[in-house]
Amino acid sequence: MSNNSNLMLINGKWETGRAGSREVINPTNGQVLAVVPEASREQAHEAVAAARRAQPGWAAMSPLERGAIMHRIAALVTENAEELARIVVQEQGKPISEARGEIGGAAGFFTYYAEFARRIQGEILPSDARGEQIWIQRVPMGVVAAIIPWNYPAALVSRKIAPSMIAGNTVVLKPHEETPLSALFMARLFEKAGVPAGVVNIVTGAGAEIGEALTSHSDIDLVTMTGSVPTGKRIMATAAANLVPVSLELGGKAPFIVMDDCDIDLAVRSAVTSRYMNCGQVCICNERTLVHERVYDQFIEKFVAASKALRIGDPLSETTDLGPKVSMRELEKVEKMIGQAIEAGAEALLKGGRPENTPVAGGYWITPTVLAGVNPAMAIMQDEIFGPVVPVMKVSDFDEALAVANDSRFGLSAYLFTNDFSKIMRAVNDVNFGEIYINRVGPEAMQGYHTGYRNSGLGGDDGTHGLEAYMRKKTIYANYSGKSPVALMPYS
Ligand code: NAD
Repeated sequence: MSNNSNLMLINGKWETGRAGSREVINPTNGQVLAVVPEASREQAHEAVAAARRAQPGWAAMSPLERGAIMHRIAALVTENAEELARIVVQEQGKPISEARGEIGGAAGFFTYYAEFARRIQGEILPSDARGEQIWIQRVPMGVVAAIIPWNYPAALVSRKIAPSMIAGNTVVLKPHEETPLSALFMARLFEKAGVPAGVVNIVTGAGAEIGEALTSHSDIDLVTMTGSVPTGKRIMATAAANLVPVSLELGGKAPFIVMDDCDIDLAVRSAVTSRYMNCGQVCICNERTLVHERVYDQFIEKFVAASKALRIGDPLSETTDLGPKVSMRELEKVEKMIGQAIEAGAEALLKGGRPENTPVAGGYWITPTVLAGVNPAMAIMQDEIFGPVVPVMKVSDFDEALAVANDSRFGLSAYLFTNDFSKIMRAVNDVNFGEIYINRVGPEAMQGYHTGYRNSGLGGDDGTHGLEAYMRKKTIYANYSGKSPVALMPYS
């Protein structure tokens, strides 16, 4: 990948970084994969100014015209799917089969939201006065600052930009500094699809510098961010200074409840997929498995066997199940969490770690770990692991499973495996999480609403409800009577 293809897109121009450049590392071998621009704060501000200038013209286009451009983006992403999938694998490390799914999502968000062109609605209300109507319209927010993490570097570009565009907003997006290549490649496709200059700007750089330059900007109308809880809190505090609304999609600690009346083989297969996909680096991953005591031994035997059988290897290989962690920093964090859990009394039924024979030299490899003998007070049951490590806890009944599941400062996704309808309904009512998967794994659907409770976020993405965040409302009192409206007592 030549450096030329990795320039930033600001105001329709391809720019190098005035603060220098940054190396992107391939987690499979620890080698430099590409060099990307490091934006200066001034460049971030120029991107915001470009987005501001472009916004009225973009909003003035009919939604169908905007949708047509978005359909072209979807088609271009699909045409370039294999190249984009390989970029995702090389910069992030997920297996190629998963990366292809991610690119399906990256195209799908544009198609899905382009179809809203004829569906954004307002309201007409009767007025208190004669000869008058009240209109409530949905209008664009204006300029959106979008900040995304490293675990889905292509799909999350689309998840933020597609709803922004159909609502008539312009965007400045900052990818994660470790995985900027997918966003920069997609920027080329935006240009090719005919996105006007300034409507979508992609700036690359460090979170504390360029992310902060965007989220603290007084001329931003919405910050939408996906990432970790500490960063989310910082962003909210920064944006608060300008009273800028924020939408935050943060971490998770999904409980995965397995009851004795479920299809155990389905539960095992699902627990494996839900923990190990993307090397455990998904906000909806199975982070703590809670198994009914009557099926615990059976579940553990099958789950440990399936964890051992995962094929760890080069993520570009078609047969790989588990690629490397994204970075040495992440690998070390997970190793530390395993060590601390064992020190706190957890028993390793399968002890993973750095393999002696690494599939590719220099990569950030880690094999699966299954921990038993855990309790809800342990850090491993409370903190997000984001790696191939599963604490499994034995529960005596459904009540205990519910209590343990809800005992979390996170509240994004939860899983339940049971064939008992009354347990399903209890979970629907009592599991205090934004998203519940019953007898199935994720991922979430575009038409759903991906929303986390408590520390897992604020607001949400996807579907009609996700789109709402990208629009504000305007009320118009339209007097067509030719006279002053009849004075009425207010609120009579
Ligand atoms: P992170 O918080 O480290 O980084 C996220 C983004 O924020 C990056 O682009 C980073 O550069 C930027 N950033 C960092 N400091 C900033 C600052 N001060 N101001 C503005 N921007 C700043 O998160 P990460 O490690 O990239 O991602 C992993 C986390 O993301 C996990 O906790 C995971 O659960 C979460 N996540 C959540 C969802 C969801 O939908 N809820 C989806 C994917 C990932």
